[in-house]
Amino acid sequence: MLNLKQPWKLAAAAVVSGALLLAAGCGGAKPPETAAPDPSKSAATTPVTGTGADNSKPGSDVGKSGGTASQTPASKPSQPAEPANGAKGGNTAIQVVANPADNAVMVNKTYKLPDNYKPADLVEPDVPFTFKEHLEKRKMRKEAAAALEKLFAAAKKDGLPLAGVSAYRSHETQTSLYNNYVKKDGEEAANKYSAKPGHSEHETGLAIDVSGSNGKCAATDCFGDTKEAKWLDQHAPEYGFIIRYPKGKEAITGYQYEPWHLRYVGVDIAKDIAKKGVTFEEYMGSSIPVSKPK
Ligand SMILES: [Zn+2]
Repeated sequence: MLNLKQPWKLAAAAVVSGALLLAAGCGGAKPPETAAPDPSKSAATTPVTGTGADNSKPGSDVGKSGGTASQTPASKPSQPAEPANGAKGGNTAIQVVANPADNAVMVNKTYKLPDNYKPADLVEPDVPFTFKEHLEKRKMRKEAAAALEKLFAAAKKDGLPLAGVSAYRSHETQTSLYNNYVKKDGEEAANKYSAKPGHSEHETGLAIDVSGSNGKCAATDCFGDTKEAKWLDQHAPEYGFIIRYPKGKEAITGYQYEPWHLRYVGVDIAKDIAKKGVTFEEYMGSSIPVSKPK
C-alpha cells in the first residue's frame, strides 16, 4: 500500500522489496501551479516554436522524432531567441526537446522527451544498489554510468559509501506509473507527485536517485541532513553530476528539494552550474533546442 502523503513509507517499501519503482519526477513535488517554471531572470524568451493553444496538451505535438539534434547547448546560455508566440508568463505550452540524447538535455514540466525516445546505450553501472535484482532501474547511459562509478568510489574513499535507489525508467514504466496514480488519485493530485510520461528525467538515462549504503532516507527528505548529501552537494559536480532540484528553487525547477536526485550533465557544465550557483533551468536559459511542430 502506498500512502503518497507519506513518501518515506514508499521509500521504505522500495528498500525492502527492491521491486517497487519510485514514482515521479522523483518523489513528490510542488507542481508548477504557477505554470511553467520561468526558466531564468533573463528567460522571458525560450525558443518556443509551438503555438500555445495547439500544444497545451502533452503529446499533442509529438509522434515524430525529435528532428535535428545537431544543436548542442551552448556553454554560454541565455542568448535571446525570437519569442515565437509572445506567450510570456503563463506559458504552459509543452515543448518536445530536439536533443534527447545530449548530456545537457532539458526535461521538466515544460520540456518533454519525444514519445519514441529510448536511450541507445543503457548499461548497469557497477555500483551497489538498495536491491539485489537486475532491474531496469539499475541502468544508466554509458557515460553517466562510468561517471557514477567514479563518484561512488570517491564517496566510499571518504568514508561515505553510497547506494543507487532508482535510475533509468522507460517511457512505458513512467506511463503506467503515472496512469495508475491518475486512476487512484485523479490527474490533478497525481501531477503533484508524479511526472507525466516523457517529463521524467529518469527516462533520459542520465538521472539516478541515491542514498547512503544503508538505504536509510532513500529518496526522502531526511536524506538532506545526511553526511552523504552534504558530500554530494560538494563533490558531485567534479564527476559531472548536479543536484538537479536544489532547495528553495521549486518555482524554477517545478520540484521541491530532492537532495538524492542526481543528474549527469558532464563535468564542464556541472562545475559551471555549481560555480554560478544556479539551477539547470537558469543555466540553460533560452538555449534549449526543441523540435518544430509540423
Ligand atoms: Zn529522481
